[in-house]
Amino acid sequence: MINRFEEFNLDKNIIKSLKNMKYEIPSKVQSKVIPQLLNNKDIIVKSKTGSGKTASFAIPLCEKVDINNNSVQGLIIAPTRELALQIKEEVQNIGRIKKVRCSAIFGKQPLKEQVAELKQRVHIVVATPGRIIDHIGRGTIDLSNIKFFIIDEADKMLNKGFVDDMESIMTKLPQNACKGMFSATIDDNINSVCEKYMKNIIRIEIKDEDKYIKKQISEFFINSEEENKYDLLKSIIYKECPHSVIVFANTRDKVDEIYKSMKKDKFTVGVIHGDMSQDKRLFIIKDFKENKFNILVSSDITSRGIHVDDVSLVINYEVPRDKENYVHRIGRTGRVDKLGKAITIVSTKEEKYLREIEEYTKNQIEEISSIDEREVSEGKDKFKILQENLLKNRKSNINKKENQEVTKIYLNVGKKKKIRVIDIVGAFSNIEGINNEDIGVIEVKDTCSYVDILNYKGENFLKNNKTIIIKKKQVKVKKDNS
Ligand code: AMP
Repeated sequence: MINRFEEFNLDKNIIKSLKNMKYEIPSKVQSKVIPQLLNNKDIIVKSKTGSGKTASFAIPLCEKVDINNNSVQGLIIAPTRELALQIKEEVQNIGRIKKVRCSAIFGKQPLKEQVAELKQRVHIVVATPGRIIDHIGRGTIDLSNIKFFIIDEADKMLNKGFVDDMESIMTKLPQNACKGMFSATIDDNINSVCEKYMKNIIRIEIKDEDKYIKKQISEFFINSEEENKYDLLKSIIYKECPHSVIVFANTRDKVDEIYKSMKKDKFTVGVIHGDMSQDKRLFIIKDFKENKFNILVSSDITSRGIHVDDVSLVINYEVPRDKENYVHRIGRTGRVDKLGKAITIVSTKEEKYLREIEEYTKNQIEEISSIDEREVSEGKDKFKILQENLLKNRKSNINKKENQEVTKIYLNVGKKKKIRVIDIVGAFSNIEGINNEDIGVIEVKDTCSYVDILNYKGENFLKNNKTIIIKKKQVKVKKDNS
């Protein structure tokens, strides 16, 4: 068992990033997967969400990328845009100091912008299936230098709806590209397609983790008739007084209904489901992560893979009909080394689904027979204070984020003013105290650009410079907090 990331012989800049991210000890899945991918082995990995699965492939990919080669070397497929963006964030954080550039490519974004993005220096692409197939068809992504191909949520992606797309991508990859399939739930159905495209497959299953889940997430259910569920939901929240909670329901209408009632009852609450626009969904997840509100009412759209640290409670307002979704939903709590709790509200009609889940997870879910009203009324006041404090802390945390190793800087010029990466490098290297080593990933967009300033020099740079000269033009600079 590997106890330190240093033991993988990783690039010192990757180690530095991991330290900044406060990743000190490799998780179980990381200690098993990282060496295999570093050795270019094809792997199938079954590991629960929240076990550090994303970094287990993001670390070796960032390590193996040759940053002097501007072509795409890693391709990661994820089922949803939210998950794709989250994976991109993880890759960016891990590869930031090594200057690995990662792009997320997904539907409903202008194709033209993506084509321009793919023409820039991009080492790793995270994509949803439809859009990547589109780019492959148009010849706007070059797959000839791909060294790693990863499918996250592989059980879903290699099943009926998507398997043809996945096969079509795999036939276009270089023969020696290493392939990794990851998911919390993988069954034998995907074996035949994996065996067709992968060589000497290494299978990794984090078995002990099963016990770990049960220890880490305590699971309960409570019976209620449909018409009493909303009052019960409020009682559970007051009694449990969670730091943050996700309330799952099965349909968009139900999600909206719960959200509206909670809003009316003055909870600080947000809502997310598939009917909402892409931007709206992304902002909601960001706001929830930043504790702008601490109750998220959600459909199953967030149940797979979305990282929100510190969700202390998951409430299933309805029993999921799909057993696997239950595992994904409750996996939003008890992540990595934290404890979590999941409570499922079960109507008479839903009892049979709960039994199916118990059979599937081989775990008996404990019943809560009633909720003590005294605890509910005491909890109500406590929960209100907790919501107020969260908002206050959020403000002070934003102010504390100074003097970071990496500062992202926004420039108000981009491609439309004929600015290129090389112009930005030139301008920044002329600034006193900043040399090439201190300039990280640069992104040039149509009307603006972003530059990472490394080695704790960003804050000082911003203090001394409100503008910078690029190609004889005075350009405004400011910190990018987005
Ligand atoms: P995942 O299983 O990829 O969804 O990761 C779950 C959470 O664990 C994410 O919030 C990661 O940022 C965090 N994480 C991953 N690896 C580590 C690690 N080695 N140490 C601490 N946190 C980690």
